[in-house]
Amino acid sequence: MNISHSKPTITQEDIATVVEVLNSGQIADGEKIPEFEKQMAGFLGLEGGVATNSGTSAIHLALIALDIKKDDEVIIPSYVCTSLLHSIYHSGATPIIVDINRNDYNISALEVKRVISNKTKAIIVPHMFGMSADLNELLEFEIPIIEDLAHTIGANYNDKKVGSLGQLCICSFYATKMMATGEGGMVLSNSDDFLGKIKDLREYDNKNEFKIRYNYKMSDLHAALGITQLSKLSSFISRRKEIADFYNKVFSNIDVELPISFDNREHIYYRYVIKIKKELNDTINILKQRNIYCSSPVFKPLHRYLKLDSSKFPITEEVFSKALSIPIYPSLSDSDIEIIADEVGKVL
Ligand SMILES: *Cc1c(COP(=O)(O)O)cnc(C)c1O
Repeated sequence: MNISHSKPTITQEDIATVVEVLNSGQIADGEKIPEFEKQMAGFLGLEGGVATNSGTSAIHLALIALDIKKDDEVIIPSYVCTSLLHSIYHSGATPIIVDINRNDYNISALEVKRVISNKTKAIIVPHMFGMSADLNELLEFEIPIIEDLAHTIGANYNDKKVGSLGQLCICSFYATKMMATGEGGMVLSNSDDFLGKIKDLREYDNKNEFKIRYNYKMSDLHAALGITQLSKLSSFISRRKEIADFYNKVFSNIDVELPISFDNREHIYYRYVIKIKKELNDTINILKQRNIYCSSPVFKPLHRYLKLDSSKFPITEEVFSKALSIPIYPSLSDSDIEIIADEVGKVL
């Protein structure tokens, strides 16, 4: 039997809530959406949220809320999925790609400082693999920050929920993420001004004047699932930490670099990423033959897509060639994680 790289945790409660919405006849524009938005905002300690159909559309709307447009620059790390790049190009602005830190895989504040110009209008900070970036460093630049929580819903940074320190934060509820609704996203903020703008732009219908808007709405089926997933998030996180503790113990005996931990930054292990000495693709293929599906945690760094000079991104290049993501999700059983640890140990 194969052990997949990621898998959503769907319970009978999740199934029942979606069936209930289907039976109600109100499958869009109903009450589940504001209810989910309110619960997410409450959970993160923010004023409000606006649910969207994806994390990518959430980032796009967050950029427009900050009035970002043509000739503006937005700073992002190279070691992340292309969602950020798409959203920035949708807004008309120019992405400025920077290198990451070797230890936590997050955007490098030093590199950000180097590229800040009078055109810089925002920094998007994806908190990678389940642990916050060092936000205090980044906040010092006094440039608006969009926190990307696609990997880190529920993690703490200095005893505060990640997502509560930037001007805006975005979530993704894609099938593999911490909370899964299939597809889905949300923008959250303490600013009623931003939230009002985003809510207006999310939908085109029933408006008095015409301007360019979008159809980025979430359906009630997804929102209902979001509510039940949120109610289980803390148990999901506990199980992820339990599995990571087990891996940390077992893998301390093999020649790999384990995930770093900091006292003031909680790791909720969206991904369990180790740096290996052996060739990455060979290792992934050998593990696959042994029915364990591991993966590179990022498909391809952004600077490579944009054909930028690779020598300017030495850490991203190094990490990209060595980082291996090992299955970690709440539905893995104790025997699954023993098999995974055993096989990974043997191969490495
Ligand atoms: C998944 C992801 C996104 C995009 O979310 P979608 O819902 O897939 O559009 C953005 N940023 C990061 C870091 C992600 O992992």
